[in-house]
Amino acid sequence: MKELEDKILAEGIALSESVLKVDSFLNHQLDPELMQAIGREFARRFQEEDITKILTIESSGIAPAVMTGLYLGVPVVFARKRKSLTLNGSLFTAEVASFTKNERNEIAVSKDFLKPSDTVLLIDDFLAEGQALLGLLHLAEQSGAAVAGAGIVIEKGFQDGGKRVRKLGLRVESLAVVSSLAGGTVQFRKGEFVQ
Ligand code: 5GP
Repeated sequence: MKELEDKILAEGIALSESVLKVDSFLNHQLDPELMQAIGREFARRFQEEDITKILTIESSGIAPAVMTGLYLGVPVVFARKRKSLTLNGSLFTAEVASFTKNERNEIAVSKDFLKPSDTVLLIDDFLAEGQALLGLLHLAEQSGAAVAGAGIVIEKGFQDGGKRVRKLGLRVESLAVVSSLAGGTVQFRKGEFVQ
């Protein structure tokens, strides 16, 4: 998605060879117009799938997920991150290792909001090693819902997550695929740009 790639080139900062900082429009401050365009694009790509619910993870997945929900006309559920394991019969839970924060979180969703009759679209801001997406997939599977696929705003194609989740048969649609952050330069899978 050109608009997104342009924004990454203009405002993204390669913190290292593997971490891209996009705090000015996705992870801290939000660009509502860009979020809207992202939601429209995910909705367009999954419009044939009869999605009934969007599932994301707090906090940075929420903005693109809400915009997608708006275009598809369906509710958006966000999995909550919790620091400790607490047994609670009314929750679906999964464990997720954080790529950026070097910690493990339990994520949870109330059983009230995911049902076997649902067809779920998973949304997240980044795909790196795939842990967050696998956690969301695991939550959806526990509920018995069907999973139509995943919409990712920025996939880092040089990490293994994309391969890992696609190998499971999951349809993953990424709006920008970063192929390298080497030397502080952002390169996309299609074409090459210098920051
Ligand atoms: P994964 O679980 O796929 O390893 O990592 C995905 C999660 O880690 C995303 O939800 C995102 O919050 C965070 N993340 C991974 N890589 C990056 C990155 O390069 N930049 C930012 N801002 N977040 C990232």
